[in-house]
Amino acid sequence: MTGSVPLVDLAAAHAEVEAEVRAGFDRVLASGAYVKGPEVAAFEREYAAFTGVRHCVGAANGTDALELALRALDLPPGGGVVLPANTFVATAEAVLRAGLRPVLVDADPEHLLIDPGRAAEALPGAVALLPVHLYGQLAPMRALLEIADGRPVIEDAAQSQGARQHGRGAYGRIAATSFYPGKNLGAYGDAGAVLTDEPELADAVRRIGDHGTRGKYDHERFGFNSRMDALQAVVLRAKLRRLPAWNAARRAAADRYGALLGALAGAGALTLPGTVPGNEHVRHLYPVRIAPGRDRDAVLAALHAAGIGAGVHYPAPVHLQPALRHLGHRAGAFPVAERAARELLSLPLHPHLTEAQQTRVVEVLGRALGAEGYAGRVTP
Ligand SMILES: *Cc1c(COP(=O)(O)O)cnc(C)c1O
Repeated sequence: MTGSVPLVDLAAAHAEVEAEVRAGFDRVLASGAYVKGPEVAAFEREYAAFTGVRHCVGAANGTDALELALRALDLPPGGGVVLPANTFVATAEAVLRAGLRPVLVDADPEHLLIDPGRAAEALPGAVALLPVHLYGQLAPMRALLEIADGRPVIEDAAQSQGARQHGRGAYGRIAATSFYPGKNLGAYGDAGAVLTDEPELADAVRRIGDHGTRGKYDHERFGFNSRMDALQAVVLRAKLRRLPAWNAARRAAADRYGALLGALAGAGALTLPGTVPGNEHVRHLYPVRIAPGRDRDAVLAALHAAGIGAGVHYPAPVHLQPALRHLGHRAGAFPVAERAARELLSLPLHPHLTEAQQTRVVEVLGRALGAEGYAGRVTP
């Protein structure tokens, strides 16, 4: 079997919501309410209920949402915020933009999320803890809340829309998410949101993201402009209705990879992504780890040559990004994150991925790893 397999398939998702989105666009275009307005307010209510928190405030994108969450907490300027080295660079960017100091810690070798033991070592000199729910599952929140010891916990929930841990969708004082098109819940452009149970924090986020406005032309505090557009809210409302089914489809696809890749994993050629106990995973990504001693980049090139849209999340941990060199970390500072960056390889995973496409991915991957005819030998 031949054929290309994309990493994500946004057009297939659009086809499901197209009629609803077009009707909603017509409604918004005729209304003249293009920034915030009733569509955004309705989405905020629906997304808060979906996540199980009291308040949701729309923002222009996920990085802004994280910055708004940090600013709303009024942390001491220059205070340290503990976050994982294994994350998308925006997590650290938001901390710096909020006038705070990123304090990086290594990943847990099992699940590659923040290592609570390392976080505990870094926290004494810091003012807040910022775990990242990377790849679609929550970081170990009970342990993290315990070690935070009363310091505010801010969750980067950009990759965990709909994920639960022991039945709960949020644990910290405040969380931020991104609706970048490729996320589990994606807009048709940029959008983000802040989530919290505390009305004062929600209010502060709303004001800071609207030029620090208290009333019209009454600017109580210094802020910036980060508001959600009504057209994006239309898209997000339509997609939110499908999100539980789409997340279930992602989980089913991940389970299928687990079965198809079982023998390769058993032979030590790769490691499958681990799950934190108590988690309901939403499989934003499916990052396998290619065994050390094998050439991950050659495997990636073989997948690309066969038309398979594999990716690496992420090729360098935060501390090795040139833009963050001033934090003063050298190679070797966070060995778990650094090794993961060399070994990780994200296979295509999205709600519309077919079994035939997965079989094709596994076949090409098996061949690249030197297991000729691999997919033919397994029965899921
Ligand atoms: C996508 C993402 C962000 C940033 O969101 P944007 O909407 O692109 O600004 C932040 N953190 C993580 C972990 C992300 O995956």
